[in-house]
Amino acid sequence: MKQRVAVFDFAGCDGCELQILNCEEELLELVPALDIVDFREAMTERGSQYEIAFIDGACSRQSEITRLKTIRKRAEMVIPIGACACLGGVNCLKNHYSMDEVLRTEYGEYAHYYDTIPARPISAVIPIDFYIPGCPIVKKEFIRVVQEILAGRVPYQTNDPVCAECKMAGNVCVFDKGMTCLGPVTRGGCEATCVTGGGICWGCRGFIDDPNVNAEKLVLEKAGVSVQDIVKKFDLFNACMKKVWK
Ligand code: SF4
Ligand code: SF4
Ligand code: SF4
Repeated sequence: MKQRVAVFDFAGCDGCELQILNCEEELLELVPALDIVDFREAMTERGSQYEIAFIDGACSRQSEITRLKTIRKRAEMVIPIGACACLGGVNCLKNHYSMDEVLRTEYGEYAHYYDTIPARPISAVIPIDFYIPGCPIVKKEFIRVVQEILAGRVPYQTNDPVCAECKMAGNVCVFDKGMTCLGPVTRGGCEATCVTGGGICWGCRGFIDDPNVNAEKLVLEKAGVSVQDIVKKFDLFNACMKKVWK
């Protein structure tokens, strides 16, 4: 029997949904086993019966709490996709300010037409079954997770930090170039794409389980950087998640 799948969007740029659509041929290969019943980025039909719900985006409005609870009731599996849904992501930057100030800054005199609440990851609102991190998600990871679910397996999630893949990619560590990087405590799976591309890791895939914070502190000390400096960097994607640094 085909698994019915829905893809829902909340607060985010929809980039992770576009990544699903970018899967193109691999997505078509899954069609015999899937029935996509709701996917705003891709179709006009709306279905209310589904087994698997992918959630793109963070929860950022009161009405979204109700919507998420409805999705949870209907779906057998709820899977947040992307940093916004898994971590709160960049949406959580607004949590540093009062919600009134956020609304006034964004909408000016029309602020009273809108509502907003402190942003939060999906797991802070409803129980989740798995998650696919990244900003945006990695296409081949999405396809692999769907294949594993269809095969009745619990999908694999690496707990290796980005550094492991960075070394395998043959990159020179940016700490040796006088820069800082969140790779040592960030979950891998992206093949260290940002470092390979000439940048640094900003932690978009969230913390690994039990991050070796002490080791990261030593690395930072050696590089002449304080924990406070690096915590600011974590804010970009992990402002809702950095309790581990306390
Ligand atoms: S995780 Fe990144 S790409 Fe995905 S919706 Fe959020 S901002 Fe967009
Ligand atoms: S700290 Fe950053 S640049 Fe250095 S190895 Fe780890 S991921 Fe690569
Ligand atoms: S290198 Fe870091 S910021 Fe870049 S995609 Fe990987 S986890 Fe995200």
